Amino acid sequence: MIGAGSTGAAIAHDLASRGIRTAVVERGEPASGTTGRNHALLHSGGRYVVKDPESAVECIQENLLLRRAAPGVIEETGGLFVAIDDEDLAYREAFLEGCRRAGVPAEEIPPDLARRLEPGLTESVRAAVRVPDAVIDPYRLVLSWLATAQANGAEVFPFTPVEAVEVRAGRVAHVVAHDLVHRRRLRLEAPVVINAAGPWAGRVAALAGVEVPVQPSAGVMVALAARLNQRVINRMRPPGDGDIIVPQRATSIIGTTSWNVESGDRIPVPPDHVRRMIEEGAKLLPAVREAPVLAAFAAARPLVAGNKESDGRELSRGFQVFDHGRDGAEGFMSVVGGKTTTSRLMAEIVADRVCEKLGVQQECRTRELALLPFHRFRWREGG
Ligand SMILES: Cc1cc2nc3c(=O)[nH]c(=O)nc-3n(C[C@H](O)[C@H](O)[C@H](O)COP(=O)(O)OP(=O)(O)OC[C@H]3O[C@@H](n4cnc5c(N)ncnc54)[C@H](O)[C@@H]3O)c2cc1C
Repeated sequence: MIGAGSTGAAIAHDLASRGIRTAVVERGEPASGTTGRNHALLHSGGRYVVKDPESAVECIQENLLLRRAAPGVIEETGGLFVAIDDEDLAYREAFLEGCRRAGVPAEEIPPDLARRLEPGLTESVRAAVRVPDAVIDPYRLVLSWLATAQANGAEVFPFTPVEAVEVRAGRVAHVVAHDLVHRRRLRLEAPVVINAAGPWAGRVAALAGVEVPVQPSAGVMVALAARLNQRVINRMRPPGDGDIIVPQRATSIIGTTSWNVESGDRIPVPPDHVRRMIEEGAKLLPAVREAPVLAAFAAARPLVAGNKESDGRELSRGFQVFDHGRDGAEGFMSVVGGKTTTSRLMAEIVADRVCEKLGVQQECRTRELALLPFHRFRWREGG
């Protein structure tokens, strides 16, 4: 497994729980890529019910499973979708119908009740709907998956970037990774190598001489030095800039923007994006305007490339598994796209394919298995 973000960690857990010998190599610390810098929303699916109903169905199903598997990394805040102008109000019917179709529990409540629950909300609230959004600690979730994988025999190598993927006679042979902690090269042989390198998946695929259509799509988030809301507040309209405020620990995080970038490294935080987040956020919670900014940061979604001209919002939030056997690298697979919320499902699909390749008949067990707590993750000596 190359990469220990939410995708790689969930796959390692699934494979190890089926008794498959698994090693994970990660260039930094676990969750040091996009996963550790995302908005931390455990999606109810509400955000996708109109535009991407398939993702909405996946989100609500995985939301419920993850609450059971890892309650210790989830804060059950709940979420509200609020309409604050005529345009939002015109979206209300489609939104409620989308929730019904996707199976996202949605309860419409009077605007004054919404304001009693969230006193910071603007007086302009015209409609409000409750959904089961929640807040995840993505770092702890990844460590929980990896700790559980370790308990089932997996080995995890943080600070060990993969430098080469050797393909011989049309089949993946081994990977070479640089163990930066012990200053040595590791040669890991495996019949199947999975590229779960997120926005760097294209670069890792190139090491094996194959291509993968990943389009990194960046987003800026602004964390305020104040927790202004207790529930996730979403604007009731098609996904756009600055339409979610997630309460995480002592902060409220406003997100996000969306534009295409070359890679997940050194993503700039354009000042106009920060201003836009504050402007849009203040339309929902007016106190946003006065709250001090704790941090502004950016991360890149590893989206499946399609229309290169778009800003990334038109690309699917779904995921795809690429089997590079057809590109002359049998045993090499890439996983691109998805969300932290749907990582378990992605892992199930990938692990089913791995089992097929290895001729192993083991059913997926991750729907029922509880995860170990994050602090059971065993670091190697030195990292
Ligand atoms: C702005 C923003 C907000 C988001 N908000 C949410 C949200 O609220 N809820 C949600 O569910 N999803 C959210 N997402 C989506 C979610 O964060 C991503 O889909 C998910 O984190 C991708 O995980 P990953 O494991 O595929 O990639 P990553 O987390 O990037 O993991 C890839 C890993 O591969 C490693 N790697 C790269 N190259 C190598 C190499 N050569 N050798 C070894 N390791 C390597 C990297 O260090 C990295 O740790 C958001 C995304 C963005 C950009």
